[in-house]
Amino acid sequence: MKFLISNWKMNGDVEFAENFFEKINSVKTKNRIIVCPPFPLLYKFQNFAHSLGSQNCSAKTNGAFTGEVSPLLLKDFGCEYVIIGHSERRRMFKESDEIIFAKYNTLVELGITPIVCVGENEDEKSEWREVLLIQLHKFMNDGNLSKAIIAYEPVWSIGSGKTPTMDEIYKVLNFLKETTHFSCPTIYGGSVNINNIEDILKIPPVDGVLIGGASLRIAEFSKMIQSSSQI
Ligand code: PEP
Repeated sequence: MKFLISNWKMNGDVEFAENFFEKINSVKTKNRIIVCPPFPLLYKFQNFAHSLGSQNCSAKTNGAFTGEVSPLLLKDFGCEYVIIGHSERRRMFKESDEIIFAKYNTLVELGITPIVCVGENEDEKSEWREVLLIQLHKFMNDGNLSKAIIAYEPVWSIGSGKTPTMDEIYKVLNFLKETTHFSCPTIYGGSVNINNIEDILKIPPVDGVLIGGASLRIAEFSKMIQSSSQI
């Protein structure tokens, strides 16, 4: 079973969500499809045939945290997964490894699966091992990674149309499997589309993919689900 995770980022509106629901709800697959729309559109996914996730959450469950969204509330809305540590949140919203780890612990306590994003940026390409170990340091010392999905997303690949070679993806995900003692699914994200999804999913340590832009093209995403169904 492979994971196909759709990250809408800050895109989509009510009409788009209705369309997406109608087209994707009826696509059959043995793989796990997880859709992560913006918070206000979660209500459009009641009775969805696939799984629901969100793109972020607070590390707290309630209190005086203006503008934050409680993972308890996300659970009420049917979210079984939450993406944490996406590079856009690390870079633009200054989320630290400590904050991401706090979110992780809260989610695990609530029985929600954290999708933990890690990855090096363009300047760090040659030091990807060190970067990933720093980003996962807290998890390995104080956490139980078996409750997570680890998403390797090289920052330079997100939204750029550039992907690592298949051999590079193999190397990094294999490293993550060994580092995490093979305890959790490891997935790849960064410019996955209809032309490369099958090759990427066939790489042995790849348990799934996180898809941004291409998952917003509903017909393409539907084809991606169908073509990956045999893998
Ligand atoms: C992402 O949003 O995490 C992502 C991988 O985006 P894209 O597929 O557009 O590169």
